[in-house]
Amino acid sequence: MEIQVVEKILQANDLLAGEVREILGANGVASFNIMGTPGSGKTSIIEQTFSRLRDEFGVAVIEGDIATSLDAERLSRLGLQVVQVNTGGECHLDAGMVKTALPKLDLSAVDLLLIENVGNLVCPAEFDIGESKKILITSTPEGDDKCQKYPLMFRLADAVVVNKVDLMPYVEFNRTNCLLSLSNLNPQAPVFEVSCTTGEGLDEWAGWVRTQLGKRKRKS
Ligand code: MG
Ligand code: ZN
Repeated sequence: MEIQVVEKILQANDLLAGEVREILGANGVASFNIMGTPGSGKTSIIEQTFSRLRDEFGVAVIEGDIATSLDAERLSRLGLQVVQVNTGGECHLDAGMVKTALPKLDLSAVDLLLIENVGNLVCPAEFDIGESKKILITSTPEGDDKCQKYPLMFRLADAVVVNKVDLMPYVEFNRTNCLLSLSNLNPQAPVFEVSCTTGEGLDEWAGWVRTQLGKRKRKS
């Protein structure tokens, strides 16, 4: 009984995700679903990505948050187009929430839409939100076992960012173990080891984003 309800919810979500994908496709917008635990650095990665690509591409953000608009305020101070989505207690974004947010953006000026999901390593993996790529942010203070403990999300990721590598000497994080379990679980996904504090690895990450965007011309 309960399984049927969940299946219905996911089917309804997939229909809406298809509509989101159509709208974004028609407007030539690539979209990244940015997922990871609270505190892994999702907002910081968005800031760093924007600062490296802002002269080449139009970038906008949909900011998913359970209750606050703190991250959206932080990003809009950088001059980004930001739409806040409060999930009202839900621990993930769904396609309907993203679809509702789209009319609030000027998509004609957007090449890359970064969608910050709610900090959570479990159910965001199950909800297609119409994105073109799923990006997983993890960080060294979380430990090196996260991909073994939450395999679905790591398996579905198109790229994995390991943030806070500058803290590696101070926390329990076995780099070899992390990279080995990532390559066992998801050998296709590139892994970027970065620090938003020192800047390490972020140019390589931005370079990968650039190749995903291909030969787009900046719209705005
Ligand atoms: Mg955030
Ligand atoms: Zn959830």
